[in-house]
Amino acid sequence: MSDPDAILPDRITVLTCLGCGAMGREARCEGDCSEHKLLLVDAGEFDALQSAAQLARQRNEAFKPIALALLDSHPSEQACTDAYRAMRAVAHKALEATEPYDDRGDWQAPPAQTGWWCAQCGNVDAPQPCIGVCVWRQTEWVNLTLYQAGLDRAAEDFRAAPEIGRILDRLVAVTPHAGRCQDNWRALQAQARAALEGPQLRPVGTQPASSTKVSKRRTTHRT
Ligand SMILES: [Zn+2]
Ligand SMILES: [Zn+2]
Repeated sequence: MSDPDAILPDRITVLTCLGCGAMGREARCEGDCSEHKLLLVDAGEFDALQSAAQLARQRNEAFKPIALALLDSHPSEQACTDAYRAMRAVAHKALEATEPYDDRGDWQAPPAQTGWWCAQCGNVDAPQPCIGVCVWRQTEWVNLTLYQAGLDRAAEDFRAAPEIGRILDRLVAVTPHAGRCQDNWRALQAQARAALEGPQLRPVGTQPASSTKVSKRRTTHRT
């Protein structure tokens, strides 16, 4: 019996073999379990994505107004040195106040495992040919769609935060030569414009995360 309307779990703890990747416990439905295909990725990878996404968003929120202020201001050469110094102080403060994060660039989902989830008993089955040394552990997994939705939400922050961050680093590190302050300022403006306008990484054709959160976490014992 397979209910096509069953809401797949976002996060699930499954008895998993560390060796062969098999999943499933012995306690399950009396009769046939329902089978819903689940693509699962390591919950630890998802948590790392979420925490990096949060820090990237904080950085972006702190950096963006500075890039905008840089674009809005057009000081004369006489006023430029002071304006540059003031902008540098603001950039320095923003860099100090925000935490760096695991900017690995590529946050594509790790390889997914396919399991068959039962809506009645909550078991996930993924038989594998046994390699003879099965080591079973309760393992947390998340639905691949949840990972993808998190990645889609974070994509713009992952792109913009390091780009704008590099401009602020430059602003802090470089002291313009006398008479060249405006040139420097305009160069930074061009970089800021490019970083702010950057490609919109809105995902196309991806599903938003399921609006109904279903927690199917269970404690299972194989003994
Ligand atoms: Zn079942
Ligand atoms: Zn095994």
